Amino acid sequence: MSNPLMSSWAGLRAELDRLRAQAYDPRARALEEHERAVRAAVTKVGRAVEAIEGDLTCSLCMRPMEEPRTLMPCAHTFCKRCLESHRDPATGGYACIECGPGKLPTGIYPNKALDAVLGKWIFQKQSLQELKEATSNAGTIATTPRVSPRTSPRT
Ligand SMILES: [Zn+2]
Ligand SMILES: [Zn+2]
Repeated sequence: MSNPLMSSWAGLRAELDRLRAQAYDPRARALEEHERAVRAAVTKVGRAVEAIEGDLTCSLCMRPMEEPRTLMPCAHTFCKRCLESHRDPATGGYACIECGPGKLPTGIYPNKALDAVLGKWIFQKQSLQELKEATSNAGTIATTPRVSPRTSPRT
């Protein structure tokens, strides 16, 4: 025998659940869409950061250049330290590893513009890493300390 009170209770519960779902859904959907957009943006920024990495990598040490020095007239650029350790054995002058021993550089200059870009790029890369960690652990708070951009010029 069915209990009329129980069946009306069940109906009420079903209606409540339906209303709750209606009230919840648009916000949940909006949040999900927002999360998807954030993840897509992080991926996009990641590709941009990766794309520039090759241009900022020293072909001698294969790391982001430190104190970049550009050779004249070929414009090839290396870390200051790397250039110092690859001087031409015959003349003691700077040698360009890209151009080979036949074409000794006639000049060298500190590439300040590239150095500034390098500092910002390293900051971007670190920030992106924090963002990746934050978005991959949804619901947890990133505790990684923020890294400040390099402001003091290197010598
Ligand atoms: Zn190097
Ligand atoms: Zn060169």
